[in-house]
Amino acid sequence: MSHGNKVLVVGAGMAGLTAAQHLKKCGADVIVLESRRRIGGRIWTDETLGVPVDLGATWIHGKSKNPLFDLAHANRIETRDAQMKSSLLLDDDGCQIQAWKKLMFAARADRVIPRLKRIARSLDRDISVAEGVAMLTEESDMSEPEICFLNRHLIEFEALNAARLDEQSLFALTSGSVAFRGGDLVFPHGFSQLIDVLACGLDIRLQETVLDVNNSRSAVVVETSAATYKGDAAIITLPLGVLQSGVVKFSPTLPDYMEETFASVKMGLFNKVAIRFSQAFWPHDFDYIEMVPKKKTAICQFFNWYRYVDQPVLVACIASDTARQWESLPDEQAVTKVLDLLGRLFPRRVSDVVDSSVTRWGKDPHSLGSYSVVHPGASPRLFDALREPVNRLFFAGEATTRLHQGTVHGAYLSGLEAARKVIASANFRR
Ligand SMILES: Cc1cc2nc3c(=O)[nH]c(=O)nc-3n(C[C@H](O)[C@H](O)[C@H](O)COP(=O)(O)OP(=O)(O)OC[C@H]3O[C@@H](n4cnc5c(N)ncnc54)[C@H](O)[C@@H]3O)c2cc1C
Repeated sequence: MSHGNKVLVVGAGMAGLTAAQHLKKCGADVIVLESRRRIGGRIWTDETLGVPVDLGATWIHGKSKNPLFDLAHANRIETRDAQMKSSLLLDDDGCQIQAWKKLMFAARADRVIPRLKRIARSLDRDISVAEGVAMLTEESDMSEPEICFLNRHLIEFEALNAARLDEQSLFALTSGSVAFRGGDLVFPHGFSQLIDVLACGLDIRLQETVLDVNNSRSAVVVETSAATYKGDAAIITLPLGVLQSGVVKFSPTLPDYMEETFASVKMGLFNKVAIRFSQAFWPHDFDYIEMVPKKKTAICQFFNWYRYVDQPVLVACIASDTARQWESLPDEQAVTKVLDLLGRLFPRRVSDVVDSSVTRWGKDPHSLGSYSVVHPGASPRLFDALREPVNRLFFAGEATTRLHQGTVHGAYLSGLEAARKVIASANFRR
């Protein structure tokens, strides 16, 4: 393959860097344009608390055949298991759920997904997860502890999919796990290590906000806040929220089917409040601390980061409406809300706050949301439409992959696919 093809990649997140690295290996001349001061996008390992804490993506989902795990392994990046099975479960008053109860109800709760699957199979049109759960509770008499365990599951679904249950598709939730086998893993030294591997040797221009993309017959011309670039092709990995906002102008305008998708697909919200305490007042040897509430509540899940960094750090996970409400609170108030909950779970034991980090992915102009949501009735074609090449433009990013939407591995796979399409395209000189 001859050198000299110039490809512009918009966005230095997982999709953009993967695409750029692949194109570079194939001999293309690649420039990555990134609006932030840093690379990684929604992967962001922050050191404010004195230890690496992932304020964006944390988990990779599965080992077997997962390209992210292979990349970590090949580069000797340490990964550790993080198992929901290893949760400290507390009731509303902070009493630990006894082991036998935990086992008994965990076994029943494990049947939530199979039961929802059965309901989904009996339907000829998609409904929301909330409607599916209503059908599930109607068809069986549930005891109070069972309802508590169901609530725990439902809060998890909200966190996982960053949206209220009535905003999520039952068909998508029950259409089989798209994660790879082998459980969830985390990076004790941060997810950004993978980003650094992918960024190695690339020409990345930071703080260059793309404003205009001109997709003509002879070239792509991209105008940023700092300069103008010309390429044979461009890969656009802008987050769905940014594309929806219309701040980046495309000429000619993007096809109607894409605009229709922007109008109907939603960005979900998932935020984190990471707190470093003066000492760890919670049991150390659990991966998560979770509440099993009588009523569905705002947050019920803490990630015990102590286990991975040996320092007293807890990460509260906040999703959907609560995340949206908290985005307009000052940091101190968000932290106070988390402390109030911890005070209920660990009465008179919560130690002093040393420092904290609060995310607002929804207000962040570089992402405008956390990740895309499959809404009830959303057809796979909607997501497919987002990765259709348009003349010299190619698209990638988590929202362009219906099967792995909302994930880092989805972003990785979409970046690779877009790079391959560029290479195979008629405009690529060989
Ligand atoms: C809080 C949180 C937790 C998550 N947890 C997980 C998890 O545990 N596991 C998992 O698999 N996934 C998780 N995700 C989702 C995952 O982070 C994303 O799916 C993935 O990182 C998206 O990668 P991307 O390359 O598609 O987009 P991005 O990473 O958003 O990259 C797009 C890039 O474009 C840049 N950009 C934006 N506007 C412009 C512009 N005008 N000009 C130039 N550049 C621009 C952005 O700054 C960004 O760097 C989480 C996300 C969040 C927010």
